[in-house]
Amino acid sequence: MNCRCDAPLADGFYVCATCGESLAYALAEVDGVVEVLDAGVARSSLTAGYGERVSSSGALHAPLPINEAVFDARRALHVYLMKTSLRIAETAGPLSLRTPQALASYLLVNLDVLRRQDWAPAVEAELRKLLGEAVRSTQPPGERVNVGECGYVFENVACTNPLTPLRTQDEITCKVCGTSWDVKARQRDAIGGAWLAIGYPATIIRALAAYGITVKPKHFENWVARGHLEPAAEQNGRKQYRVNEVWAVARKMAKTKVL
Ligand SMILES: [Zn+2]
Ligand SMILES: [Zn+2]
Repeated sequence: MNCRCDAPLADGFYVCATCGESLAYALAEVDGVVEVLDAGVARSSLTAGYGERVSSSGALHAPLPINEAVFDARRALHVYLMKTSLRIAETAGPLSLRTPQALASYLLVNLDVLRRQDWAPAVEAELRKLLGEAVRSTQPPGERVNVGECGYVFENVACTNPLTPLRTQDEITCKVCGTSWDVKARQRDAIGGAWLAIGYPATIIRALAAYGITVKPKHFENWVARGHLEPAAEQNGRKQYRVNEVWAVARKMAKTKVL
């Protein structure tokens, strides 16, 4: 019997050593990809916490743009790593930690067990597909724009359905409540424009404060000094930073309590 690459297989193996190495590289990518995803997931959760931005007078303050695809991509990757690990756990021994990173390490350590499974030839392609989808999910969508949750208020409850019209669409009708919205007007009202914008630290701190995110100037300085934040531009010798990057660092630091 031969490997899918046509190389002859050693007794009991379904994936040759070279293809095994290639699979190991894919597994090694999990750490970095999950790190990027977690920054994206944290960004999304802002909307969960600060999503209701419609005042009773009807004035619209759309929430920060979110990328729900990040949640789905992370979950799909995690589930696949878990399933694959559990399939070899009887031979390879019990799993300890169950984070995607730990599961990837587990599979790496037990690569020889994995290579002996008759279903192993399909693992690399599936894993690479999921990693690719994960990376793409963190990139800005080309086709659609996010203009925040619907926000239509009916009997004091705001509709939380996210609206994602096509770039070319002028009007969007909410699938949940049926309200129609002017896409361009919503984009102007949303912080969406500022999200990828760059600005001086003080400007960004003020903008984030409006969304309930407190960043102390001193912390900002620390993050820069420690390399957590890179300037995006420089004008007249003053450095400017990207709003979304500051926010991502602020979230991460708040979570780890290391400011
Ligand atoms: Zn091979
Ligand atoms: Zn709605």
